[in-house]
Amino acid sequence: MANLIGRAVLGVTNRSIVRSAVTRTRPGRALSRRFVAGELLDDVIAVAKDLNNRGFRVSLDHLGEYVTDETKALQARDDYLAAIDAIAANGLDANVSVKLTQLGLGTNDDLARRSLGAIARRAAERETTVTIDMEDATLTEATIQMYEVVQQEFGILGIAIQAYLHRSVDDIARVAPLGGHIRLCKGAYAEPSEVALQSSDDIDANFDLLVNKLMKYETTMPAIATHDEARIAAAERSAADRIHPWEFQMLYGVRTKMQGKIIESGRPLRVYVPYGDAWYPYLTRRLAERPANMLFFARAALSRG
Ligand SMILES: Cc1cc2nc3c(=O)[nH]c(=O)nc-3n(C[C@H](O)[C@H](O)[C@H](O)COP(=O)(O)OP(=O)(O)OC[C@H]3O[C@@H](n4cnc5c(N)ncnc54)[C@H](O)[C@@H]3O)c2cc1C
Repeated sequence: MANLIGRAVLGVTNRSIVRSAVTRTRPGRALSRRFVAGELLDDVIAVAKDLNNRGFRVSLDHLGEYVTDETKALQARDDYLAAIDAIAANGLDANVSVKLTQLGLGTNDDLARRSLGAIARRAAERETTVTIDMEDATLTEATIQMYEVVQQEFGILGIAIQAYLHRSVDDIARVAPLGGHIRLCKGAYAEPSEVALQSSDDIDANFDLLVNKLMKYETTMPAIATHDEARIAAAERSAADRIHPWEFQMLYGVRTKMQGKIIESGRPLRVYVPYGDAWYPYLTRRLAERPANMLFFARAALSRG
């Protein structure tokens, strides 16, 4: 997402007047349903069942981020515990994806670490896993440090690494020996050139290079998170000699035909399915990735419905 149009999109959508115009109208909520399963746990469980029946693995993401209120941070922990229980109760092939700022990282790091530990413990008991999403670059180091501490205790975590960051090649060498899974994505935030590559070509080249490195580790399960056909083909080439498991990951509602083709080819694919009422920032990042979607967004923002 490191291009100028993407930045401009986030500049507009981050304005509070636009946010309230979209979140309060029916067309705005309808637009969110293209990328978000619904507001309730029951909604996402129904979507996950359907995806499992069609051969997809799933990761449930209870939306929320940058939480500064401790009561809300604890509520987010409890929502994740409930999601893990529901995965087990319904026999789903699913795990959960968590943002650490939703658990209080940045406001009360100790609380966030304890909550992540509680989520990891429950996931271990229910025989599933937890992936830590990677947020903006001011949080990368704190996120990796928390991953290292909790992963050493429970061993069932995974972490997202963003190909646009200059530091990611070193971060992979740092986290891969800890086991678990590593989700490689391009990166969804508007970052400055001091910390992140800016051109699509540079990001794509680094993505392929990092995939190649990841595929050589026996200690980690690479999860290649992209909808970019050239990156998908490059990953298949890098994995030609790999005997250990790996998977693709894609977002709910994005390039669904291509998702079906990957499943038909026999390659495992996990669909990342967000749910909950805090869907606005997630929606705006998806719009920034494909500015053509802004037409729908503008209709929702201008609607009185
Ligand atoms: C499973 C998963 C988890 C992720 N987790 C994180 C995370 O933890 N942290 C983070 O920073 N980022 C995360 N991302 C987002 C990621 O960083 C990218 O912003 C996003 O995936 C778009 O990049 P791309 O690799 O698909 O390539 P792009 O070059 O952006 O897109 C390739 C093609 O896919 C299609 N496409 C891509 N996005 C959309 C869209 N929104 N709507 C319609 N078509 C689209 C377009 O046709 C485009 O040409 C995640 C992505 C996935 C798939």
